Amino acid sequence: MKNYDAVIIGAGISGLTSSILLAREGMSVAIVEKHSRVGGYLHSFKRFGIEFDTGGHYIGAMEKGGAFRTLLEYLNVYVPEHYRPMAQSKFDRFVIKGKEYSFSQGYDKCIKDLTEHFPHESEGIKQYFEKLLYVAKLMPSSNFKLNERTTEVFKWMETSLKDTVESYIEDSQLQDVLYSYCTLHGVSPKDVAFAPHAVITDTLIQGPYTFQNSGDDLAKSFKEECSKLGVDFFLGEELLEMNVIDSEIKKLKTTSFEFCCKYVISSMHPKMTFARLDHDPTRRVFKDRLLKMKESKSFVAAYIRLKSKTKFDPDTNYYFFKKNISNLFDDANPLDPNFLYLCRPGRSNEENYNLKHSFITVHIPCDYSYVSGWKDSTFGKRSESYKAFKEKLKEVIKIELIKIDDSFKTNIDKIEISTPLTNIHYNGSLEGSAYGIYHSISNTGLKGLSPKTKIKNLFLTGQNISFPGLQSSCSAGVRSVSALLRTEKFDEDLRRMSSQNRKNDD
Ligand SMILES: Cc1cc2nc3c(=O)[nH]c(=O)nc-3n(C[C@H](O)[C@H](O)[C@H](O)COP(=O)(O)OP(=O)(O)OC[C@H]3O[C@@H](n4cnc5c(N)ncnc54)[C@H](O)[C@@H]3O)c2cc1C
Repeated sequence: MKNYDAVIIGAGISGLTSSILLAREGMSVAIVEKHSRVGGYLHSFKRFGIEFDTGGHYIGAMEKGGAFRTLLEYLNVYVPEHYRPMAQSKFDRFVIKGKEYSFSQGYDKCIKDLTEHFPHESEGIKQYFEKLLYVAKLMPSSNFKLNERTTEVFKWMETSLKDTVESYIEDSQLQDVLYSYCTLHGVSPKDVAFAPHAVITDTLIQGPYTFQNSGDDLAKSFKEECSKLGVDFFLGEELLEMNVIDSEIKKLKTTSFEFCCKYVISSMHPKMTFARLDHDPTRRVFKDRLLKMKESKSFVAAYIRLKSKTKFDPDTNYYFFKKNISNLFDDANPLDPNFLYLCRPGRSNEENYNLKHSFITVHIPCDYSYVSGWKDSTFGKRSESYKAFKEKLKEVIKIELIKIDDSFKTNIDKIEISTPLTNIHYNGSLEGSAYGIYHSISNTGLKGLSPKTKIKNLFLTGQNISFPGLQSSCSAGVRSVSALLRTEKFDEDLRRMSSQNRKNDD
């Protein structure tokens, strides 16, 4: 039996954050991770000779004093050379019904560009972004009042993006531009709370960065810091069962070990976490509510090697919408995709390998139902019909790319496809969902999941208790450890550090 003060389930960014903070408090910490590598959706993998990211293409709030950068500095995992800013102008391009719009760094430029496209909405655009900035700054993940929940905060947790946008903007095409980032959390404009959407938009407009090489660099920095603090890693170990006696976890069983500990923090999906308890004392009403929460959609990803250089900029993301964004997640048929996201793997990553090729990553939404028929097959040994389905996906993606740019007719060299089943295999995510639970208003704010559970020594963390995204999941780690230790000291430290960094920048 292995004895620790705390066992963390999952080595994604939230589990790694929790481990560092607990180890700094002098606790002995073990991380149990089912994959052979750390990082969760942050990890990258090598294909065609270069690194591709799985779930970390770009991040916001990375300017000096920015919330995410401050968090990483606080955790001692920030290495400036691992990041580079996205394009100053047009770091995100959105093609909607054949017309291109963009977001550039800084509100002034964003507002100016949108106003040029929609001069009749100039006042609404200005007011909308003023409100967005105001709400973003109120939010705990921006101001490091991670446990503060004021009436004003709750108001914006209960107001939808759609209602907010419609109160300023009449033009439906412009509404769609402002809904584009729904693809970053997977919730439709009518269902998502304005507050978290405002935070994501604000962090990207103010400080969009990408990984110089890949997210693995950050995962490695986390691992090094954990190791320095004496955290033990149990990789390739899946949590199988937790024994509960008197509303307390007494023992954990993984593939090859048994653990005994005072505290457990789980970044596994909450439905899976509770399913691993041999006796679940939580109330029926909670269980029913949890089981009724639906999952966010998954994606099919295509990792593509091109024969030669491409005009698609590695410092820009390209969003192509074929359909009204409000209905984007209703039917996510990968064989007839209504949305395509295109980005490049890290630039220096490509340059380091000095290849004549260039590379792109493409994502299209995919409902789990399109692959669930193969859910019981084993990774690497799936049936011919699954392989044929993946071949069909390759053709669909090729056709969609050629519609975007003629050069793809001759420039595509090799394509590797991942499906929601790939996510389940590597990450254990439910239905292969990209962003965990569907973070609708009914799962946000007061109605959201809390780190604390009815099991005295079990705490939840990760994107399911906060919101999708690396910054949000990292903040969730801080929130869970704050709840466990019943302290607000991390928030205080982070506030001080952020304001100091901003001053130094002046
Ligand atoms: C396609 C895609 C693109 C994305 N793009 C971006 C982006 O550009 N920018 C951004 O900020 N965010 C992005 N995200 C979201 C971001 O990656 C996630 O929100 C974040 O990584 C979640 O972190 P986490 O710690 O909550 O969970 P995870 O990273 O999912 O970590 C959970 C860990 O638990 C482990 N685990 C599960 N079950 C068990 C078990 N039984 N035993 C042991 N271990 C277990 C898993 O293997 C995993 O390592 C993207 C996500 C996806 C899927």
